Amino acid sequence: MTGRRLDELTTVVLAANPSPMTLDGTNTYLLGAPGSGEVVVVDPGPDLPAHRAAVDAAVAARDATVAAVVVTHAHADHAAAVGWAGAWGVEAFAFRPELVPAAATALADGDVVARAGVTLEALHTPGHASDHLCLRVGETGVVLSGDHVLGRGTTVVAWPDGDMADYLASLRRLASYAATALYPGHGPVVTDPAATVADYLAHRAEREAEIVAALRAGDTTPAAVVARVYADVDPALHPAAQRSVRAHLAKLVAEGVVDRTGGGDEEHYRVR
Ligand SMILES: [Zn+2]
Repeated sequence: MTGRRLDELTTVVLAANPSPMTLDGTNTYLLGAPGSGEVVVVDPGPDLPAHRAAVDAAVAARDATVAAVVVTHAHADHAAAVGWAGAWGVEAFAFRPELVPAAATALADGDVVARAGVTLEALHTPGHASDHLCLRVGETGVVLSGDHVLGRGTTVVAWPDGDMADYLASLRRLASYAATALYPGHGPVVTDPAATVADYLAHRAEREAEIVAALRAGDTTPAAVVARVYADVDPALHPAAQRSVRAHLAKLVAEGVVDRTGGGDEEHYRVR
């Protein structure tokens, strides 16, 4: 297995960590200009020996060495293997280095990593996680979208680190870049970014309307709202759905649409 070539610059290596949250597994991307003899590794992924071997084989198949490592966010399925940067003897970059499990350099919004003949511009896109970055490839207009937009289905905005208002603003920001394609952290390439991001925004607006309707119908807790709104979703995903519902509720409270009373396990919500 030496990964799959997506374009002149990019190879993807799929990690064997499939789950309802990670779809087929984590996509690790290698980007480098032809003939540069180098690649940047984006999202090394889970720290699995077989994945490390597959990434090393894909790097070797390109007659390259690793020039740098960048992570889109600190969740373990993307960043657990950031320590490989040490073994490769290269610098690792993250928005909030203190969250990743190895030494890394801070990469702020608008910063550029220019290595291996490619330029990756960091776009801070909080929502899925507060430290989430998308990476825009200057040479192709592709955006590596991490868990901000996935190749299939929708992403989780996991309250409290995930923030729904931030997430919607980050989606609008991504739309403004008119990416030529999205290379997501999980799932296949998104070839119609504008339509997909519009769908994501519509999906969130629909969920929000369903949550308000559930509250009006008499539900007062996140669990009750999930049971009603996510009735057609695998119950294994209900804990994740509850974090998304809480993220929606926090946004509605901040907007003055919904009142919250109590706290912890005793919190109740109702429409104002
Ligand atoms: Zn992920």
